Amino acid sequence: MLSRYLKIYPCGDRPGSILLYSTKKGSVIRASSLLLDAIRDDALTEADRNALSRMEILTDDPVAERETMARLVDRTNANAGVFYATVVLTLDCNLACPYCFEDNFRGRHTMSEAVAELMVQKIKREEIGEGRDVNLRFYGGEPLLALPRLKEIAGRLNTAALLAGTKFSFTLVTNATLLTRRVVQALIPLGLTGAQITLDGPPEIHDRQRPYVSGAGSFGTIVENISAVYDLISLKPGGNFTKENYRTFPGMLDELLATGIDPSKLGPIQFAPILPKSGVRCGGDCHPICGSEWYGEAILFLREETLRRGFGVEKPTMGGCMVEMTNNLVVNYDGSLYKCPTFMGWPELAVGNLADGVGDYHLSHKLDLWQSDECLECAYLPLCFGGCRLLPLLEHGVIDRVDCRREFYDNVLEKLILQDIRYRPTVAVSGGIS
Ligand code: SF4
Ligand code: SF4
Repeated sequence: MLSRYLKIYPCGDRPGSILLYSTKKGSVIRASSLLLDAIRDDALTEADRNALSRMEILTDDPVAERETMARLVDRTNANAGVFYATVVLTLDCNLACPYCFEDNFRGRHTMSEAVAELMVQKIKREEIGEGRDVNLRFYGGEPLLALPRLKEIAGRLNTAALLAGTKFSFTLVTNATLLTRRVVQALIPLGLTGAQITLDGPPEIHDRQRPYVSGAGSFGTIVENISAVYDLISLKPGGNFTKENYRTFPGMLDELLATGIDPSKLGPIQFAPILPKSGVRCGGDCHPICGSEWYGEAILFLREETLRRGFGVEKPTMGGCMVEMTNNLVVNYDGSLYKCPTFMGWPELAVGNLADGVGDYHLSHKLDLWQSDECLECAYLPLCFGGCRLLPLLEHGVIDRVDCRREFYDNVLEKLILQDIRYRPTVAVSGGIS
C-alpha cells in the first residue's frame, strides 16, 4: 500500500506524469501516472515494488507504519549515542542588533569557572564515562568574547574523550566578527568542526541590522573572516529577513561571489525571518509561519536565488523540535538548564540546573503534542512533529498547542521539491521509474 507519509503531485511540465515524495525518507520519484494504477491493482513488477519500498513510498503494513512513527522519538532517545549541548558561554555581545532575540536578558553575564567546572565534571561522568560521544555548540551573546573559557572547556573534554575512546567535537554559533584564521586554527585541535554565522543581506541592510556596539557596520569584517576560514571548517551562513527586505538578500550572495568565495565549499545557506524577542508574549499572528502568505514566497524566492548562484541549501528532511530529544540540552551561563536556547527568556521553562540535574519537563513542554490522530495521519508529520514549541509560546504565553505547518507545506512543499529536482541530477531507478 502507499505510505500515508507521502505526497503525490501532478507534473505540470509532463502530462501523464506524477511526482511521489516520501516525507519520511525524503525520496522523490517522477513516474507515469499509470504507476498509481499498478500499485492499487497490485500489478507492480518485483523490481518496481522493491525500489518503491526502499524509498518508503510503499509500506507492507500501514498500521505498523503509524505505530513506528508514534514511537520514533522514544526509539531515537533510547538509542542516542551522542550527547548534544548548546553552551551559553556569555550573554555579552560586541554587536547591537536592534532585533536581537535576547534583548530582554542579554548583558555582561559570562560563565564562571565554577559553573564551567560543574559542567565539565557532569559531562565527563554522565556522558563520556558512559561511552557516549559529545558534541557541544558554543553559543552567546557572542561566544568568542569568552575564548579562554571556551578553550579550557573544550580542551578538558577533548582530553577526557580521547582517554575514554569516545569522540568530542564542537561548533560555534557566532556573529563571525572575531572568527579569524588564527582563532580557528587554535580551536581545531580542540575539536572545532564548524560554525553557524549570520549575514543579513547586502552591506546596506546588514550593517543596519547587525552593527557593532559603536554603531559601525560589521559586514566587511565578517566577509573577510569567511574568506579566511571557510577552507578550514564547515561554515553555515544564515540571514534574518523581513517582509520588506528579503528581496534584497541575493545581493549578499553576489558580494560573497565577488570576493572569490567558492560557493560549493560553503555549507548550506539558510535564511529565516526575524522573530519577536524572547520572553515576551506577542499575541495575534506575530510570527510569520502560520499567519502570512509572504513567508512562503520569501522562502521559495531566496532558495531559488541561492541555488541559482551555486550555493547549497537545506533539503526538507525528517526532524522535530529539539525539546523532544533527551540527549540535547542547553546549559546557560549560570548553570541553569533549558531544552531550547529560545526559552531562556522564560526562566519558568528551565528544566533544572547543573548541580541538581534535569527535572520532569514532560508537562511543561507538552512533549506529546503531536501524538494525536490528526498528526499521526498527517503526511507532513515526519517534517513537522508538531512544529516549533517557541511559536505557541510567543503567541499564547504557554506551550499549549502544535505549531501546525499544514498550510505552509500545502503552499510550498511541491515547489521546494521541484527546485531540488531542477538543481540536482536524477537517477534512473528501474524501468518505469526515474
Ligand atoms: S550578534 Fe546575536 S547575540 Fe549579538 S546582538 Fe546580534 S543577534 Fe544578539
Ligand atoms: S502539526 Fe499540523 S502539519 Fe504538523 S503533523 Fe500535526 S497536523 Fe500535520
